[in-house]
Amino acid sequence: KYNPEGDTHFLEDESTKIFARKVADHYSARINQTLEEREASPIIHLKKLNNWIKSVLIQLYAKRGDAVLDLACGKGGDLIKWDKAKIGYYVGIDIADGSIEDCRTRYNGEADHHQRRKKFSFPARLLCGDCYEVRLDKVLVDDAPFDVCSCQFAMHYSWSTEARARRALANISALLRPGGIFIGTMPDANVIVKKYREAEGLAFGNSVYWIKFDEEFSEKKFKSSNPFGIKYKFHLEDAVDCPEWIVPFHVFKAMAEEYDFELVFVKNNHEFVDEYMKKPEFVELMRRLGALGDGNQDQSTLSPDEWEVAYLYLAFVLRKRGQPDQT
Ligand code: SAM
Repeated sequence: KYNPEGDTHFLEDESTKIFARKVADHYSARINQTLEEREASPIIHLKKLNNWIKSVLIQLYAKRGDAVLDLACGKGGDLIKWDKAKIGYYVGIDIADGSIEDCRTRYNGEADHHQRRKKFSFPARLLCGDCYEVRLDKVLVDDAPFDVCSCQFAMHYSWSTEARARRALANISALLRPGGIFIGTMPDANVIVKKYREAEGLAFGNSVYWIKFDEEFSEKKFKSSNPFGIKYKFHLEDAVDCPEWIVPFHVFKAMAEEYDFELVFVKNNHEFVDEYMKKPEFVELMRRLGALGDGNQDQSTLSPDEWEVAYLYLAFVLRKRGQPDQT
């Protein structure tokens, strides 16, 4: 069993840095697509569904005027969502310098490949850095505290070592105000482990994704007392091709509690869709985004293989303990 009181001396070896670089290089090398290329993607409906999930989280938890910290913000694909929420300030950080450059271009409204020349109504600061290594509380002294922190499809990159996982949570906790909200999406370890057990060998997948565990991997790792560094290779057509790490959610939750967070909810993305598609405003948003065709839950335009990828992920909301400052 994971023991949070246990050894707090972490071994940081060279391979951890090499893998973080591999992740950064992979995302940095991803070029911006034109609108036409994007629409032709084999996972276009999955991308739209993921955008819908992030939009719902943002609409539920961001308030007008909020200061927002977007960890692993990528190319700034969520800038428009934050703008719609009328936030007051935005800080975006990503390890991939190429992505931060694209994010800056998008924020400045220059040559946006999505053909929008949007000017955003909030000031923003965009930084390139490793969110799971650097003491962000020291870097963002003048920007904190934040009302909302968002880490979308990226928290699992912190799970290569306990030190990095702790740095991630310590950073977020230090930068959020009491009562502040942490929203995120990441792979659902329960689903991945279940699929691994059902699979014949070390790999499984479908026409749009595959997951492959290392040769030295064995069932024992899932059960071992060290829940960090359980690595696999993830390939998602037209999106991801790099090492990732299993995040057992019960460990994530227990560790988040050490950093003063309480769980508001965690839901697999299938459950998330089922639940929020009961709300007319979000059905309408889905219709506008076009992920599920006419807005029914029948996956009319999302292919079954894309829908299976949605099942690999979960969405979570944590709240930092304490009361917001009344002043
Ligand atoms: N959050 C964005 C979104 O939802 O569109 C991007 C998601 S993308 C799947 C994962 C992102 O995590 C990439 O942009 C990658 O560069 C970033 N990332 C991975 N490891 C990171 C780290 N240690 N520090 C900061 N960003 C990291």
